[in-house]
Amino acid sequence: MYCPKCGAQNNDKDLKCAQCGQFLHCVQTEDAFSSLVPYRNAPALIAYYLAIFSLIPCIGLFLGIAAFFLGLKGLKISKATPELKGKVHAWVGILLGGFFGLLYLILTVLFFVAVAAARK
Ligand SMILES: [Zn+2]
Repeated sequence: MYCPKCGAQNNDKDLKCAQCGQFLHCVQTEDAFSSLVPYRNAPALIAYYLAIFSLIPCIGLFLGIAAFFLGLKGLKISKATPELKGKVHAWVGILLGGFFGLLYLILTVLFFVAVAAARK
């Protein structure tokens, strides 16, 4: 492969350019990292973590709803600029956050209905 900095030809397995010392695979490494952790698509990343924490009862209702809307925002960003990544994280936020947000919403409503019924 050719060095992205000075253009010298290098062995594909070489980590650094023999000519100038530029890291040859840093672009690919960063790309793999950003699809693993889409730090440049903040809403998708936050949605992902909120969705995970929405498993916790009580606060799960609010975190789930927040994850759902942040996930939608993150998905919009990843569609507009695919190189920012975060599509998978956004979907996790939407689906997981949406599921638990709805689940806790239903449970909360059922709880209040049960309390109201018990008071009669
Ligand atoms: Zn070079």
